[in-house]
Amino acid sequence: MIIGGGIGGLALAHGLRQAGIGVAVYERAQARTDWLQGYRIHINPHGSSALHACLPRSNWEEFLATVSSTDGGFGFTTDQLSDLLRFTGAEIAGHQDPTARHYGVSRISLREVLLSGLDGAAPVGAAPMGAATNGAVPVGAVPVGAASVGTASSGAASVGAASSGAVSGGAVSGGAGSGGAGSDSPGSEGVLRLGKRFVRYEVGPGGVTAYFEDGTTANADILVGADGANSRVRHQLLPHARRDDTGVLAVAGKYRHDGSAALPRALAEDANMVIPADRGFLFTAVWKHDRKTVATRPDLPAGLLVDNFLLDNFLLDNTADYTFWAYADAADQFPPGAAEMPGDELIRFVLDRTRTWSPALRDLFAGSDPQTVNAVPLKSAAPVSPWRTGPVTLLGDAIHNMTPMGGIGANTALRDADLLRRNLIAAARGELGVLDSLGRYEREMLDYGFRAVKLSLRNTRQAGTPNRARTAMFKTVLRMVNRVPALRRRMAASFGS
Ligand SMILES: Cc1cc2nc3c(=O)[nH]c(=O)nc-3n(C[C@H](O)[C@H](O)[C@H](O)COP(=O)(O)OP(=O)(O)OC[C@H]3O[C@@H](n4cnc5c(N)ncnc54)[C@H](O)[C@@H]3O)c2cc1C
Repeated sequence: MIIGGGIGGLALAHGLRQAGIGVAVYERAQARTDWLQGYRIHINPHGSSALHACLPRSNWEEFLATVSSTDGGFGFTTDQLSDLLRFTGAEIAGHQDPTARHYGVSRISLREVLLSGLDGAAPVGAAPMGAATNGAVPVGAVPVGAASVGTASSGAASVGAASSGAVSGGAVSGGAGSGGAGSDSPGSEGVLRLGKRFVRYEVGPGGVTAYFEDGTTANADILVGADGANSRVRHQLLPHARRDDTGVLAVAGKYRHDGSAALPRALAEDANMVIPADRGFLFTAVWKHDRKTVATRPDLPAGLLVDNFLLDNFLLDNTADYTFWAYADAADQFPPGAAEMPGDELIRFVLDRTRTWSPALRDLFAGSDPQTVNAVPLKSAAPVSPWRTGPVTLLGDAIHNMTPMGGIGANTALRDADLLRRNLIAAARGELGVLDSLGRYEREMLDYGFRAVKLSLRNTRQAGTPNRARTAMFKTVLRMVNRVPALRRRMAASFGS
């Protein structure tokens, strides 16, 4: 069973389901729209290859159909919007193989793609389960056993079986509702169980039992905590694991492209990292609207998401083109209580701090919709040593939560989903024991996961602690890279990974 239907948990669920391994996802949100947030995220080659490996072909095609239609480039600029280094979209697109390239995707669309086919509703244009050609074990190669999805308390494979040999078809699935206040009806509702807020788990001879706030329980051989940065699964499994405040605060917002002032091309087409002369940090990225909403549902008015939820809130709207921005600085540079300040006050504050910046950047802040502007104190997971492997493990932000200042948190969660999927399939094939497969996953995941945390933390600290000498050196390096084609190619190749 997977706790948390976020980016990593849903990708893993698809990957296991495709391999014929029973799986259930328990998500605290009550409805599909409850936790859809509307910012663009960057998917790098790690993320796209993991999505391709985990998703059924129809979902993967949905993903390709919903990525941002801009092939914009990436620039490093001064606060006067003067280029230090700028890559074209073609230079950073990377390998043209669509399974290993960079994409801009609306978080709403990505969630929709990940949810499609897991909640009982047929995916748009769905191919039957197992029709994908991702190299996963075909459905049927691993028998779906007694505890297949939704089969309440029908005897999940025991932990003894799991620890000694191959994972059965039902080893990751949950039979829910034993003795609880209400139970899931077998097979009727797909893999995703909404409105299930996980509280705690117990490991016993019959596997892992999860307890939910509504009084229900669920059993499975393995429990994967994919419940995000404040993971309750992590709190129980690794009570010593910490998330530290980085001392940096980020203000993020969205500027509609049909706004009052036309933005220059650099801000309307490309992503940018702005390196100010004084202090602070700015990142911008562009969302060009979701082609799918228009292309596949011409019958629906603008503003509708693919599954018919009418959203009149721009924060949740992925039908308008916009530039997303995030301004960061040390938290002590902001007024007290900034994290709770309304959007219009935050905009005024950012404008005040950027009085000497380029007018185009100030237009970006001033013209943003206040309802999309909020402030977030940035936290980062402290490194965790390997723990004794058991039937409970962790994935994504639940273990290696990082600040958004590397743009790699979701990509790392997707990489985890693919790695765990591959290890559990190896166990299902009898190539290694389940605990060995989990141990192998945990060792590899902790290594690259905490390297990603370190990179994001370094970027964050640099934003919070300006150092003129270091900034000058960085600018010199960027200008040099801009002039030397071999260096450009090398930097473009490693971009965003
Ligand atoms: C502004 C911003 C921009 C970002 N941009 C990027 C980017 O460009 N690229 C990138 O790679 N990353 C980006 N990230 C980071 C990325 O969003 C996260 O790293 C990613 O969402 C982590 O995925 P996850 O599946 O581990 O957790 P989540 O996506 O957070 O999912 C966790 C899920 O668990 C559920 N849950 C929590 N508690 C419980 C419970 N008790 N019971 C049941 N369910 C529970 C939650 O409702 C949620 O659905 C960004 C983050 C922010 C804030």
